Amino acid sequence: MAPKIGLFICDCGKTLSQTMDYDSLISDLKKSGKFEFIVRESVLCRSDLEKMLKKLKESKVDKVIVAACTPKLYESTWGHLLEDAGMNYYDLVIANIREQCAWVHKDEPKESVTEKARGLILSAANRAEVLEEIPREKIPITQKVVVIGGGIAGLTAAQELAELGIEVNVIEKKPTVGGLCLELGTVFPTQDCSLCVRTTGCPGLGDGSPRRCIYRANLEFNPKIKFYTNSEVIDVMGDVGNFKVVVKKNPRYVSEEKCIRCNECVKVCPVEVPDDFNLGLTTRKAIYMPFVQAIPQIYAIDPKTCKFEQCKKCVEVCPTDAINLKEKEETFTIDAGSIIIATGFDEYNPALVKEYNYERYPDVITQIEYSIWVMTSG
Ligand code: SF4
Ligand code: SF4
Repeated sequence: MAPKIGLFICDCGKTLSQTMDYDSLISDLKKSGKFEFIVRESVLCRSDLEKMLKKLKESKVDKVIVAACTPKLYESTWGHLLEDAGMNYYDLVIANIREQCAWVHKDEPKESVTEKARGLILSAANRAEVLEEIPREKIPITQKVVVIGGGIAGLTAAQELAELGIEVNVIEKKPTVGGLCLELGTVFPTQDCSLCVRTTGCPGLGDGSPRRCIYRANLEFNPKIKFYTNSEVIDVMGDVGNFKVVVKKNPRYVSEEKCIRCNECVKVCPVEVPDDFNLGLTTRKAIYMPFVQAIPQIYAIDPKTCKFEQCKKCVEVCPTDAINLKEKEETFTIDAGSIIIATGFDEYNPALVKEYNYERYPDVITQIEYSIWVMTSG
């Protein structure tokens, strides 16, 4: 048996009736025979909600169509109203006759706009006829978040979640967090440090929130945020609300607990290689601090260039036994209710656009190349 369908149609404070002929629309819809009732109102999102509820309780329809504005605005309001009337939240179909009809066709003939609205509502009725009830169930969720990627987006997310009291685990594959923004220097249009966590709080752009950068935000010492550097996610199990995130932590070879940042290891390390953080414009040792303000402030060994057992000079001079050249990777699991993927970006390769003459003229450079040049040229 076909379900009984009720239709509420809204003229949005009579504004939509300037573009559509509601009398003719309702008359046509009545003739279709698809609706148990058709009710026209002007403010279905607010003052007419009580009337809607009363009508639903009295009429005992199976499905409901609301022909009004975008579902993004009031779908949950009407869905919960259905529940108050003893129906299923998902017995609702919304026909968007405002944004997808009246507003986009406001300069077109009223008959055509009305015809489109009629089509949208009848399509919604067809959909309502085949809708099945979806049960809603509550499940306990883990109040922890894993953020994959410790760049500016991941750090911003981590900080804002921590402020809400949520425990956050940031997984970053490099030895330091900050991502590519570390290399950007200052950015247009405020010339603020590119590491600002809240650029919208900057003067001129502002939402009134204080301007903070990842250093001033004290993220490293926030008890709600835990950083896993040199780490990558290798598997995710579970489902929304209860994930198990499997993390592989690659060896840093320097203990985060024991290193006192004395720099003695760097002085004796015989291996000098181009510093990739500075695009190879400077050099660093095989054991190194990624850069002066790195978070965490712990040295790391580059396994691709270190001589390990054939050298061990750093181990010999380290005053706190912080270096373990035999350190192995470890794998562990973190519980998380949500996962944020903020794995960053690569700078665009300007060589792909011939007109830029990027590889032809030495003065045509990218933002990062410019910033690194400024930072390294003193
Ligand atoms: S063991 Fe590796 S990091 Fe340590 S001093 Fe030798 S080359 Fe440098
Ligand atoms: S010598 Fe040891 S304590 Fe000093 S910076 Fe190097 S690893 Fe850290």
